[in-house]
Amino acid sequence: MRSIYGISLKELETFFVGNGYKKFKAKQVYDWLYKKRVKSFNEMYNVSKSVIELLEENFCFNDLEILAKNEDIDVKKYLFGLSDNNKVEAVLMYHDYGNSLCISTQVGCNMGCAFCESGRLKKVRNLESHEMVLQILKIEEDINVRISHVVLMGIGEPFDNYDNVINFINIINDNNGIALGSRHITVSTCGVVPKIKEFTNYDKQVNLAISLHAPNNEIRDKLMNINKAYKIEELMDSIKDYIKVTNRRVTFEYIMLQGINDTKDCAIELSNLLKGMNCYVNLIPYNETSHIEFKKSSQKTILEFYDILKKNNINVTIRREFGSKVSAACGQLRANFEEGL
Ligand code: SAH
Repeated sequence: MRSIYGISLKELETFFVGNGYKKFKAKQVYDWLYKKRVKSFNEMYNVSKSVIELLEENFCFNDLEILAKNEDIDVKKYLFGLSDNNKVEAVLMYHDYGNSLCISTQVGCNMGCAFCESGRLKKVRNLESHEMVLQILKIEEDINVRISHVVLMGIGEPFDNYDNVINFINIINDNNGIALGSRHITVSTCGVVPKIKEFTNYDKQVNLAISLHAPNNEIRDKLMNINKAYKIEELMDSIKDYIKVTNRRVTFEYIMLQGINDTKDCAIELSNLLKGMNCYVNLIPYNETSHIEFKKSSQKTILEFYDILKKNNINVTIRREFGSKVSAACGQLRANFEEGL
């Protein structure tokens, strides 16, 4: 049976109309689910008995179990148990502009980026939309906060689970439900070009972030398997087209790895690659993990890299470091848990 948390308002409306009921029933149900946060159809007391029975025959309420929590001053990390005993993580970050939740989109990941902890455990399966929605609901319930921003930067590659991710965004963005503004939602991809093209025609103003991490194919090939399928030129073409069609600014994420992609030449090459594009670069201090050899660049190197981009008129920020103390680097908590560490 399908989880009610994975049903978009539109689908629920179609469901009601198909069963001979008025469309507005769907909004009533959404109100109970996401504004009042009830946990059973029975509690929806302005909904008639026959409708409740119909809902019970077709949909279920499901849950995620909080298996572990880990926290620091500005960050809180959750490990969730899914109904089939798989596990995923979500990380809540407290910013001055609100609470941002980083959610997972798959159990494991097949993209195989050399520096990333998530990929050490291969993809077991995609997350269903309801399992993404519930990451938000459970955390809001657990600590009684309102999550204002959602980033799809946890475990998994969102564009390797495209349909469920889009359905998820439609659900959380709906004004009758959780009502997270589209500009407060960010999808991050390692560069699955066909899906970037598809996303270009998606009708919501959701932010797009690209994990670039290298200014040329030679370095990117070594770091990211996806670059063997889609070269930087092809990737950049798809992004330029995205910007042209959507008129939206794209974020490039760039992890600073000591001696690998952090030289002055790399900074110059990156500036040339991005010149004139409506974009900004987020330099990310690498979160070191015990299993992977890469080292983070020194603060001095990061600042020099930053300066070169600035001088070349590239918008650039250095990401504040979150969660390294609480194994919040992508996939760390889950990987440690699975290995019994
Ligand atoms: N698969 C998607 C989203 C998940 S990864 C993507 O690749 O964009 C989210 C971001 O965290 C990516 O930019 C990824 O490259 C980065 N990341 C992975 N491991 C990291 C680490 N140890 N330290 C810092 N950033 C990391």
